[in-house]
Amino acid sequence: MILLAHMLFGAAIGSVIHNVFLAIILALLGHYFLDLFPHIEYSIDNIREKNWRKSLPDILKVFLDFCLAIIIILLFSKNQLIIYICVFVSLIPDGLTIISSLFSNKFLLLHDKIHIQKVHFLRYKKTRALNELSARPSTKNILFSALVSIPFRILTQAIAIFISIVLISYQ
Ligand SMILES: [Zn+2]
Repeated sequence: MILLAHMLFGAAIGSVIHNVFLAIILALLGHYFLDLFPHIEYSIDNIREKNWRKSLPDILKVFLDFCLAIIIILLFSKNQLIIYICVFVSLIPDGLTIISSLFSNKFLLLHDKIHIQKVHFLRYKKTRALNELSARPSTKNILFSALVSIPFRILTQAIAIFISIVLISYQ
């Protein structure tokens, strides 16, 4: 998911869970949980290819996304330290994936395997479903391609963001 959704979800966990240790663990797991849902996200292909000039718009988008999340958290949350710690923790999985696209080691490769292939399993099923749909338009295939359609993938993030803001502001 985009950073905004991950950061707000982390902030929501930090706002709701009062046990610091538990909040940090859940903020980390919360990242993988959100990634399970079909969603749109930025391409890091330019960064991976170290094509810096082309990555600039991508980096700018990520930066704006990050700033927007911080502004929302500043405005709506109680601004306790634990909220910001959880926000930071909720970004670790994507941070590790970006680091591993630049320089990798065994741990980062294993993390990528879990984060990108296992958690984002729908991304790989998507192409297959769309191919099968044109070959064999069964109810199951139609339903699946609806689940991975762009409007639905935007909706899942909008719902995650909405629920997070409600949790952050109701504390
Ligand atoms: Zn992720």
